This record gives sequence, C-alpha cells and structure tokens, in this order.
Amino acid sequence: MNRPSPKQDVAVIGGGVSGLTTAIVLGERGHRVELFAGKIGMDTTSGRAAAIWFPHHIGNPNDDVSKAAVKEWARATFHSLQSLIPADGRPDANIGISMIEFRIVSRNELPESERPWAPSRDLKPEDLPPNRFFGYSIDVPLIETPVYLRYLEQRLEHKVGAECIHRGAKIGGISAIDVGVSIVVNCAGIDGPDFSRMEDSTAMNPGRGVVILGRTAKSYAILDADEYESGKLMYIVPRRLSGQCVIGGSDTNDRSPTPAVKEIAEIVERCSAADSTLEVETSSALVGLRPLRPKGVRLELEDIDGRAVIHNYGHGGSGFTVSWGCAEEVARIVATITAPATPATDRE
Ligand SMILES: Cc1cc2nc3c(=O)[nH]c(=O)nc-3n(C[C@H](O)[C@H](O)[C@H](O)COP(=O)(O)OP(=O)(O)OC[C@H]3O[C@@H](n4cnc5c(N)ncnc54)[C@H](O)[C@@H]3O)c2cc1C
Repeated sequence: MNRPSPKQDVAVIGGGVSGLTTAIVLGERGHRVELFAGKIGMDTTSGRAAAIWFPHHIGNPNDDVSKAAVKEWARATFHSLQSLIPADGRPDANIGISMIEFRIVSRNELPESERPWAPSRDLKPEDLPPNRFFGYSIDVPLIETPVYLRYLEQRLEHKVGAECIHRGAKIGGISAIDVGVSIVVNCAGIDGPDFSRMEDSTAMNPGRGVVILGRTAKSYAILDADEYESGKLMYIVPRRLSGQCVIGGSDTNDRSPTPAVKEIAEIVERCSAADSTLEVETSSALVGLRPLRPKGVRLELEDIDGRAVIHNYGHGGSGFTVSWGCAEEVARIVATITAPATPATDRE
C-alpha cells in the first residue's frame, strides 16, 4: 500500500519563475511553504525574458543525461502551460498564456534532430526573411511575463497566505532562515551557488541579454538560429495582451547592468532587417542575466548542517520552458525526505 508522503515545512529562496512555481507546487501538495525573495516577479531576471517556450541555452549539450532531463522538464512544462490557456485559445487577461507560431530561421539547414520536442513543419521560401534560406515553425506557449509572474504570485499567495511571502528578504545564507523549516529549496538563479557548500560558484556564467519593447504587425514570433555562437541574437516575440512585442537580443559573458547605445542599435538593425513592420521604443531597453551553468541545471539534494537543501537553479535561457517540470522534480525529492532533517521549532 502506498503511504502518503509526510507534509514538510519548506522555505523557498527566490521570487523569479523558478521560486514562484516551485513554491506553488509544494504548497498545492500540502506542504507548509514560506518564500524569501530579495526581488520578486518583474523585478527579477524572469521579468526580462521574452518569453517563449523553447529549450535552448540550457544544460550541457555534450551530456546525454542532462539533455534527457531538460527534454522531460520542458515536455511537462509545455503541458502545464497549455492547461492554463482558455478553450477559445485567447490568453486569459489574468494569466497571460496562449499558443503562438514560432519560426526558427537560418542560412543553413536545421537538422530535424536538433529541433525541440513538439511537432514542427518546414517553412516555405516565401515565409522566410531576406537572406534566410531554411526554417521551421512550431506552435509553442507564449508567456506574457508582466501578467504571468503576477498570476504566479497571486496563486501562491492564495495558497500559502500573504504572510508567508517575504518580499525584499535578502538571505545571507541557509543558516539565516529561522522559521523552523527542515527543507530549503534554492531557486536563487545566478546567485544559486551562494547557498551551497560545494565549489560551484566559479561554474556560473551570466548570459547577459538586452531586450527592447516595440510593436509589430506580425502575429508570429521569430528567431534567427545562426548567431548563437556570436552572441548577436535576433528574435521578435509579439505579446497579445499589451499589443507590444519584445525584441532581442544578445548573449554576452559580462554583468554590465546598462544597455549600451551601440548594442541597442545593432539589435534594432538585426530585427528590422527581418521585420519591416517593426517599430521600436529604444528607451525601454533592459538588461537581464541568464543564469547559465555550463554543467547544466543543478537540481539535487545537499545536506547543509543537517538541513536538506534542494537546489533548483542554473536554467540559463530556458527558465520558463522548464519551470513546471523542475518544480515537480523538487516535489518528488521532497517526497523522499521522510522525516524532518532538523526538528521544526514551531511544529505542533
Ligand atoms: C533576455 C532574456 C530572454 C530570455 N528569454 C527566455 C524565454 O524566451 N524563455 C525562457 O524559458 N527563458 C528565457 N530566459 C531565461 C529566463 O529568464 C531565466 O532562465 C529565468 O528567469 C530564471 O529564473 P529563476 O527564477 O531561476 O531566477 P531569477 O528570475 O533570477 O530569480 C532569482 C530569485 O532569487 C532571488 N535571490 C537571489 N539571491 C537571493 C538572496 N540572497 N536572498 C533572497 N533572494 C535571493 C532573487 O531576488 C530572485 O527573486 C530569458 C532570459 C533573458 C535574460
């Protein structure tokens, strides 16, 4: 007979997409959850994302185990996001998820084996932008971050209570969490290594990206697959609720918080060459640091001074794409922890 897993007292560090989603899944499984976030929602890296379901720039491409895990998390997340779309296909104004056609284009042939999971179709020559000769199209979840991150925050608040969400709470280390929890989940993004005793800090790279708001007459999203290596990306992602689009981008290994005039101009030039209908608000440009971990996403248990710390960070350019799958994996690990690692001080 299956015995129900014990209900645990859990602290989640992080108020980006990973922390919010993980806290929701744990709260909805009946665990007592408290969330601690220096910043929350749109003020985090998650608030800089375009954001579209598309597994890329995540995990170790040379490691089959890491690739397989990403595929499973992405697949689970695809379905979870899809389930948030109303039957008429239009995004709920309070959730912000809908399906969108996503075109991936290139000068070179794009091998079918490198396409992400989800049915895809080849683009016709007349559907390709100038100087791009190959491409495919897939229907994927579009995440309108200003609406969706607020939705996650409200869903969590509804489940665990406003008093359990600690905004503006910068945590100095695992031992600084003194709310009687036996388990801590580390969803601190690029700062994830700060909550580990293992030598991990040198292994994080900032995949710095600049995003700019604009408007387009196109109804599909588009990405140029050719420039991953150079860091000079080109993507345009229309948003349905705001009528705006997000354009990008870049991917550089530095932490400069301010977008340079030259990089904004180059992004606008690349995107305008692919979409002649584009109008750009250059003053809206913002920087975000993708939490890139060359070894792959860190989703594992570490014992720190008798406390069970579950790491869930390092999702690179795909934090939204794997969010629900990773949160479910954290819940599975929590379910294997049979007794509190540290007695909870406020347990009845
Ligand atoms: C330009 C750009 C475009 C992107 N586009 C996409 C896309 O289209 N699709 C997609 O899936 N992904 C995309 N991404 C990637 C995605 O945004 C990230 O993978 C994701 O935001 C990571 O989320 P996170 O919650 O793990 O980290 P974050 O959003 O960085 O959140 C980390 C949280 O930890 C908190 N924290 C850190 N240290 C402490 C501390 N000491 N005490 C308390 N709290 C702390 C922070 O305050 C924050 O709340 C994009 C990223 C960028 C930059």
